[in-house]
Amino acid sequence: MNDISERKMRFLYALRSRGVTDSRVLTAMEQIDRGAFVRGIFAERAYDDTPLPIACGQTISQPSVVGLMTQALEPGPRDKVLEVGTGSGYQAAVLSLLVRRVYTVDRHRRLVREAEEVFRKLDLTNITTIVGDGSHGLPDQAPFDRIIVTAAAEDPPGPLLAQLKVGGIMVVPVGQSDTVQHLIKVRRLETGYDYEELRPVRFVPLIEGVAQD
Ligand code: SAH
Repeated sequence: MNDISERKMRFLYALRSRGVTDSRVLTAMEQIDRGAFVRGIFAERAYDDTPLPIACGQTISQPSVVGLMTQALEPGPRDKVLEVGTGSGYQAAVLSLLVRRVYTVDRHRRLVREAEEVFRKLDLTNITTIVGDGSHGLPDQAPFDRIIVTAAAEDPPGPLLAQLKVGGIMVVPVGQSDTVQHLIKVRRLETGYDYEELRPVRFVPLIEGVAQD
């Protein structure tokens, strides 16, 4: 067996052993090369199940967390999805294989530009990128079937809850940045919302406003 297929098998094994069992999610994660989203000295660790630093002091999430969040989102082929926190673009790329369209927002222009470059290189044409403060959502494109937030908020942001379709699902890490955060799955019902706590996680904080760099 060559190095690449062995590396891929290990990567998929780590995902499965940490609870990523949805075959569509595993297939998408097999297809999207995480190595394309990690630069410089950390590139050689792209297939380890660990978060890694990216530009602007941010991080690319741990692959098993990407898998678990994607699975919790129950993505469908006709779904319009909002991601808050583009970061490297990896999570958006995985989702783009599972849904109709992904809108992904980040407050750092540089991260958005770099992610766009990778999307072009990988020929992922159903991702729309936006530089902005994602905590307000995207009123022009709302409502969304699914919303995924990849930075931790103290509470699920109200504008995002409001931009979720009835029957829609939002996955969001909630908690203060330096204490324990929990991944929350929110389902919008005919009246109100249903909240389910999934597991402890650790994300960079959701920060208001567009970054100046
Ligand atoms: N999903 C990413 C990881 C995101 S790291 C990946 O797959 O690589 C969290 C990201 O959230 C950072 O890039 C940070 O800039 C962004 N972020 C934090 N607060 C934000 C806000 N209010 N609006 C948009 N993006 C935000």
